[in-house]
Amino acid sequence: IKKIAVLTSGGDSPGMNAAIRSVVRTCAFLDVECVAIYRGYDGMIEGDFVPMNARSVNNIINKGGTILKSARCEEFRTPEGRKLAYDQLIAEGIGGFVVIGGDGSFRGATTFNEEFDFPVIGIPGTIDNDIFGTRYTLGFDTALNTVVDAIDKIRDTASSHNRLFFIEVMGRDVGHIALNAGVAAGAEEILIPEENLGLERLLDSLKRSKKSGKSSSIVVVAEGDKIGKNVFELKEYVEEHLPIYDVRVSVLGHMQRGGAPTAFDRVLASRMGVKAVEALLEGKTNLMVGIMDSKIVLTPITEALRGHTKIDKELIRVSDIMTT
Ligand code: ATP
Repeated sequence: IKKIAVLTSGGDSPGMNAAIRSVVRTCAFLDVECVAIYRGYDGMIEGDFVPMNARSVNNIINKGGTILKSARCEEFRTPEGRKLAYDQLIAEGIGGFVVIGGDGSFRGATTFNEEFDFPVIGIPGTIDNDIFGTRYTLGFDTALNTVVDAIDKIRDTASSHNRLFFIEVMGRDVGHIALNAGVAAGAEEILIPEENLGLERLLDSLKRSKKSGKSSSIVVVAEGDKIGKNVFELKEYVEEHLPIYDVRVSVLGHMQRGGAPTAFDRVLASRMGVKAVEALLEGKTNLMVGIMDSKIVLTPITEALRGHTKIDKELIRVSDIMTT
């Protein structure tokens, strides 16, 4: 391989820039040409390529988002769209690409690899931490710290007014952000998609908390929790069944995706980028870079797509003990 392309695709996450930088610099170090593809698979289909050198990625390791822009591209889901993308890559002399993105982006990459026998390596960039084959996805640590910071601030106002807050955080299929942030910020209860507490237990726990003399209560709710009510419905439900509480809702939303990556995510991104380029140059393909037991490892993308990383049962137990 003489030329490697790098792109970001799907939802953005903090640390993507650090990973782009790492891929570009590793190529420069190993004397391989590097090309950036703008706007994800859209840019691949349209040939939106820009040559990169070590200096093209100055001062981006500390920036959130992605300088290459990201996109959701319907055309890449079709064989015709992928053929257009293939023709563009071949015309540019590109011998393999590194895609930084979530499970959808990987699904596209692996299909593309199987159709054209084209070398691809994935770097898991998503705040949800929902991809098999890596203990941490890129951006999860930053998002977690952002959420904890936000909850701390909400607690200041909650305790000044003896209020109960339902705080909705991201996590449609997995509760990693909710569980970890809930433990780190001392939430009374944490509602995650992996287990349904039930409304009764929620009410009991809130009653107990009030009785024990706590001045404020925080309930962290993952978007995809299975209790059957969204945060606004939960507020109404609790107000109706537990009128002792003055209830408020806060939906943290897209602020969870932004901000400067933490040191952890910058280091992880740097390590993953090096491994991705080295893997391509060693003739490896259709693999995702991950971190397991503090080691950088490769997993077949098809494995990584099999399911979601399981929630840590031990942490659920710790959380239960902490809310005593
Ligand atoms: P996030 O985890 O933030 O949602 P993602 O990478 O999963 O990120 P998606 O929108 O699901 O985001 O996927 C990004 C792009 O990958 C899609 O817009 C599409 O171009 C491509 N893609 C997704 N699924 C497929 C598929 N089954 N076949 C081909 N391409 C796909």
